[in-house]
Amino acid sequence: MVERPASAVKELVENALDAGASRIEVTVADGGKTLIRVRDDGCGIPADALPLALARHATSKIDGSDLLNIHTFGFRGEALPSLGAVGRLRITSRVAGEAATEIAVNGGRMEPVRPAALSPGTQVELRDLFYATPARLKFLRTDRAEAQAVTDIVKRLAMAEPHVGFTLRDATGGGEGRVVFRADPESGDMFDALHGRLATVLGREFADNAIPVDAEREGLRMTGYAALPTYSRGAAVAQFLFVNGRPVRDKLLTGALRAAYMDVLSRDRHPAAAIFVSCDPVLVDVNVHPAKSEVRFRDPGTARGLVVTGLRHALAGAGHRASTTVAG
Ligand code: ADP
Ligand code: MG
Repeated sequence: MVERPASAVKELVENALDAGASRIEVTVADGGKTLIRVRDDGCGIPADALPLALARHATSKIDGSDLLNIHTFGFRGEALPSLGAVGRLRITSRVAGEAATEIAVNGGRMEPVRPAALSPGTQVELRDLFYATPARLKFLRTDRAEAQAVTDIVKRLAMAEPHVGFTLRDATGGGEGRVVFRADPESGDMFDALHGRLATVLGREFADNAIPVDAEREGLRMTGYAALPTYSRGAAVAQFLFVNGRPVRDKLLTGALRAAYMDVLSRDRHPAAAIFVSCDPVLVDVNVHPAKSEVRFRDPGTARGLVVTGLRHALAGAGHRASTTVAG
């Protein structure tokens, strides 16, 4: 399940989001191979629950009877135990009004809970990923490539949560580290906040050339921003798709995006967009891939239709507004 530093970062940031964090700080060193640290200001873990958080299949988020109806990111209680099995894991946490405590797992062995110092929230530190399994370590790519994958996932998660502040630091060589990416919490309604966040993550030029999309079909809703065809790119580097807040790479949605721009974009150009599909969790299966990056819609035709029609409508509206502005 934990394949590389970026997948560990994703699990830890999702835990922080589930904990209601408003600021999340991620620090990595050597591409995440020697250090991954995620610090949040969320609800914290009570001292007596710390050992439980590390027990396999222990999750505080679901009682097991409702696996189809999943509203939080986590629901399997697998991330922390798996991380404890593949690296040196230390969790420090504090619930507001209580004392901070920490627990460490080394080589799969859990140490007793100890007092610690921390302001409310949680800090999870994973050192020396795969140190006990050299074969898996060998499959990792260069520090630079792993660091890039970490940056990509942090940016995608930041896009999905504009009201949350994110900082990513590279602490290779020690110290507090240098800031690689920073996004301050955005305010305003969903569209304002997202527009601000997209300007931070994808750049001013994207934000200035993007139009809002908002469409609905049979229980599925699509929101987000899509770039005008004139902003298209030669490579598909600026397509960001989310289902119920999770970053996904989904052939159906990518295909729908391409189809929506078919008449306004030449074949060698790629549309740029950040699209969020949301629906009742029973209408989509997020369990297709263990890393939860692939999805299966109960009704794929509806999902495709929503994206194609919704985007075409938004683009046509933008074209219409542009031409009336010129004419007027
Ligand atoms: P899951 O997220 O699937 O529940 P995890 O193994 O990722 O499983 O986490 C186990 C449990 O530890 C969570 O259910 C939650 O209660 C607690 N936990 C983990 N990370 C945090 C965090 N950053 N803040 C508060 N609680 C956390
Ligand atoms: Mg989790």
